[in-house]
Amino acid sequence: MNTTVSNQRTKTYAATRNACKICAPLGASVVFKGVRNCVPLIHGSQGCSTYIRRYMISHYKEPMDIASTNFTEEAAIFGGERNFDTAVRNIIEQYNPESIAVASTCLSETIGDDMEKIIRQFKARHAGESLPDIFFASTPSYKGTHMDGFHAATLSLVKHFASSGEPTNKINVFPGFVSPQDIRNLKTILQDFGLEATFITDYDETMDNPSWYTYKNLPEGGTSIAQLQSAGSAMASVELGKTLAKQQEETAGTYLNHQFGIPKISLGLPIGIHESDAFFKALESLSGKESPAKYIAERGRLVDAYVDGHKYNFGKKAVVYGEEDLVIGLVSFLEEIGLDVVLCVSGGKSGQMKRILKEDIQIKSHTEILDDTDFEEMAERCREIRPDILIGNSKGYYISRELNIPLVRVGFPIHDRMGAQRVQHLAYIGTQSLFDKITNALIEKKQNESPVGYKYM
Ligand code: SF4
Repeated sequence: MNTTVSNQRTKTYAATRNACKICAPLGASVVFKGVRNCVPLIHGSQGCSTYIRRYMISHYKEPMDIASTNFTEEAAIFGGERNFDTAVRNIIEQYNPESIAVASTCLSETIGDDMEKIIRQFKARHAGESLPDIFFASTPSYKGTHMDGFHAATLSLVKHFASSGEPTNKINVFPGFVSPQDIRNLKTILQDFGLEATFITDYDETMDNPSWYTYKNLPEGGTSIAQLQSAGSAMASVELGKTLAKQQEETAGTYLNHQFGIPKISLGLPIGIHESDAFFKALESLSGKESPAKYIAERGRLVDAYVDGHKYNFGKKAVVYGEEDLVIGLVSFLEEIGLDVVLCVSGGKSGQMKRILKEDIQIKSHTEILDDTDFEEMAERCREIRPDILIGNSKGYYISRELNIPLVRVGFPIHDRMGAQRVQHLAYIGTQSLFDKITNALIEKKQNESPVGYKYM
């Protein structure tokens, strides 16, 4: 058996070629777009916010009002305080938001802008005026990926807003970077258990709105400031993502635990039967109720589908790539359905993915795991491995095209298909959707390549 570990690979180049990650303030912007009546403000050059808006519009197909402090050469040398002042005043005038969420960029972090001080001084200069809440997440992209930005923004929100109060029966849910449809599905599940939940944050509506007759500067929906404040008096926090549970740095869930004594339940993304079972078990324990019959039936249908589809999936070589926690969740599921995961790839560098895949998921010994890597390295490995299927975001499409293998699009970004905001990944229902897509992609490839135009399986 061929045992491969990624640190044995010998790179023949030094630079990143087609990064398998996105910039940190983009991750922060997704979180901030899930706060009600909030305008994200990118503290840096116009190019950063344009890139972020372009990426998010293309994925979510929604207008993306994300402001910029619009650094010029002068700001890049002397600091962006004056630009910040102008930007905040413009935002207040144009949007009248309840809050402004500031994310730093590579440039503002490099020149050393002290954002806490800049915000404090802005408030002091405008004392007596009715100002929106202004808060800040440090998101230098050279230090991490969009997921680091996502988690830093989530942490900054609870640090800024959560306060102690009378204990409630609410649950804080930190779903991670999932689709708006996943958030909708999770909300329904929690409601069916009779649990009141605060999603931190909730971009189900803000990133997937119905059509409007007139343009709204600020889309409806999102987690309200009152909900964020009540995070400090919740009954428990549920944090999804196995790398989060293992990482040394503080997470939103650990902060609430240390600051307010709120119990934290750490789970993997509920993809596949094993991880979904763990999720439903946690809800049973939180609610004191058994899983509703609807979900027992969903689980049963999923098991039935696994059996029906086994002959199409078993032994097929799969390459999985994307955010570390998504890769871990997907691999756990793919192992259940008999796919042979030959390569796992992420641009993330938490250092946890490899260990979790080996120890928690007990991935096969021949599976190659590449973290902190790029698409070119993935392409090189794929040319050698010749997988049957790719599972990941649309940035891997060129590899799928070159090698003529199907790509099942999951995660972020999906720039070349409709419905990215409605891709379901989580719980039995999301797994069922993924299972059908993956199995049908393999069947379609076989059918297309068959010399016989068969119509029955
Ligand atoms: S310069 Fe940094 S913050 Fe700006 S878009 Fe590029 S990676 Fe993101």
